[in-house]
Amino acid sequence: MRYKVWRSNKDKSLHLLCREGAEAFEALPSVVRNMGPWTGSRDGVVDRLRLPYRAILGEQAFVVIYAHVSKLDLETPAGMRGIVAENAQCPQCQGAGRVAMYHGLRDKECPRCSGRGWIRSKP
Ligand SMILES: [Zn+2]
Repeated sequence: MRYKVWRSNKDKSLHLLCREGAEAFEALPSVVRNMGPWTGSRDGVVDRLRLPYRAILGEQAFVVIYAHVSKLDLETPAGMRGIVAENAQCPQCQGAGRVAMYHGLRDKECPRCSGRGWIRSKP
């Protein structure tokens, strides 16, 4: 799923984040649409959005952000992606990626997470 950012022509600091596509845009409440006219700005993958934005987007299908375009910081930095933001620690190995076998005499790759130490919180 992809997101799209729109910038208001009335106020360049006014940004709107919603799902990509005309349908998502048409589904916005008229009060939001009337904050425009909106000009298309950047877009990207929803999964990369910072958690708060993703949460609001999931809840109400749009996010209104008031910030200068240079301060617009929508995505989780690449290094933080995956383990911290998108995945839950593996409950079987507690993030170690290894589990004990033979009563702790040996360990093996955790079968639940294939040794990654985390599992996807959502499929
Ligand atoms: Zn595991």
